Amino acid sequence: MLAAIIDSSEDAIISKNLNGIIMSWNKAAERMFGYKEAEVKGKHVSILIPQDRLPEEDMIISSLKAGNRIEHYETIRVTKDGRFLNISLTVSPVKNEEGVIIGASKIARDITRQKEAEETIRRYNEQLKLINAIGKTISAHLEIKAILQKVTDTTTQLSSAAFGVFLFEKVSPTGESSLIYTISGLTRQTFDALPSPRNKELLEISFKDQKTVRVADVSKDPAFDKEGLFYGLTEGTNRVTSYMAVPVVSSSGSIIGGLFFGHPKPGIFTEEHESLVVAIASQAAIALDNAKLYEEVRQLNDKKDEFISFASHELKTPLTSMNGYLQLVEQKPELVADLIPKMHKQVKRLFAIISDLLDISKINAGKLDLNFTPVNLQALIKETIESTAQIGISHTIVTDIPSDDIQLIIDGPKVLQVLTNLLTNAIKYSNRGTKITISGMRFGDQVRISFQDEGMGIAPQNLHRIFNRFYRVSKSSSQVEGMGLGLFISQEIIAGHNGRIWAESEEGKGSVFHVDIPIDAR
Ligand code: ADP
Repeated sequence: MLAAIIDSSEDAIISKNLNGIIMSWNKAAERMFGYKEAEVKGKHVSILIPQDRLPEEDMIISSLKAGNRIEHYETIRVTKDGRFLNISLTVSPVKNEEGVIIGASKIARDITRQKEAEETIRRYNEQLKLINAIGKTISAHLEIKAILQKVTDTTTQLSSAAFGVFLFEKVSPTGESSLIYTISGLTRQTFDALPSPRNKELLEISFKDQKTVRVADVSKDPAFDKEGLFYGLTEGTNRVTSYMAVPVVSSSGSIIGGLFFGHPKPGIFTEEHESLVVAIASQAAIALDNAKLYEEVRQLNDKKDEFISFASHELKTPLTSMNGYLQLVEQKPELVADLIPKMHKQVKRLFAIISDLLDISKINAGKLDLNFTPVNLQALIKETIESTAQIGISHTIVTDIPSDDIQLIIDGPKVLQVLTNLLTNAIKYSNRGTKITISGMRFGDQVRISFQDEGMGIAPQNLHRIFNRFYRVSKSSSQVEGMGLGLFISQEIIAGHNGRIWAESEEGKGSVFHVDIPIDAR
């Protein structure tokens, strides 16, 4: 019965004499170490002990001789096929009838799994600590370059990569995008000399599915052939065999950058490296979003200062002219009749500047109150043309509006301001004598009013910026008076009508500005 119990045990139960010779060997010992009882009986127990642990046996034997039991001693033993097992040993002395110690019974429990689990927990703990620490350091930085470098260095080290690169797409508040990068483990010159795509293309092709890419050997992956992805990275001394790329996704869900790692040996990057880098990448994304906000605030602040000096300058120009005219009138009163229209013009300019500034402060305060009343489309367009007539009749203005008048429910004076601004721009930014077409048409429950000119046009890369506050295309700003506020204010007014304003243009040929507003915009 006892033998049956021993044989059914999950733990290996072995007995040996004081010389270390194995005397008995149960079924679990067969399973655990791979030897049949017949193979080991009579052999020295050291066949189970790894070379570097042989002295342990002497320690065990002497402890046994002293009559001591060894409990739950954690050590490593080796199987028949050379595998190492983590085991927990309990060794008790076996005495004969006279009470003399003649051997030992050994109970070995395989704790490999438990050890592995403990090791995993320990590693996870360490990683968690590390990720937290990195999170803290990177979020303490508000400078984008510093964050990128810190993240590149840490992730390159943690993933055991030979080199790592962080490519980051920086978008300025005015919408210009530039690509910056930091490197770890490679010099800038070496990286720059790599013939592979190193720019935005790399981000786009790598993260088509917004997913991490991890390849054990790029030479065996069809995506990395001569024509394919990153082929350049596989050439020269900085050959990439193992490859990993992790996207950095901002809180808005867009890919703002990517971390790329390489190693000349295959199979370097594990799933664990991947999840570690992914975790750090998401911390980096938050830090980069914060840095971006900080930069925006700083730039807005700079803008504000710029604005104050700019507005003061703009206000000073007509005032200086007025002052000049007044001095002239003082000296030569007979000139008054000639000078009054000129002074009027300057006063008008002052009014225009001040009303733009007031609009801006209302928009900033969210107080652009609209007052909706019925207005006829034909009258609105007529008034628009009249309001610009004072600038002088310098262009051929053609209208193309439906003969059936349309009644709109809008804020008349505000929409008039928008249309006047569009017509004034069409005049300002095109040569005298050219044609300007104003058209109106109804589609569904909306109307579209368009202003087409034959002027200087706007380059495609500037088209979306002209609606930004203070933005002026540099070519026009030197030639034509303006503050770069008209289109910004217009856009706000049209948005308040649930409408849309946009431009189509061809540089050198002319532009069309369109305004869509609901017929009843309330
Ligand atoms: P401003 O005319 O005071 O500069 P706007 O906000 O009305 O300000 O226009 C912004 C910029 O857009 C102008 O400075 C000019 O560069 C460009 N722009 C506007 N309308 C036109 C147009 N019809 N043709 C060419 N450029 C234009």
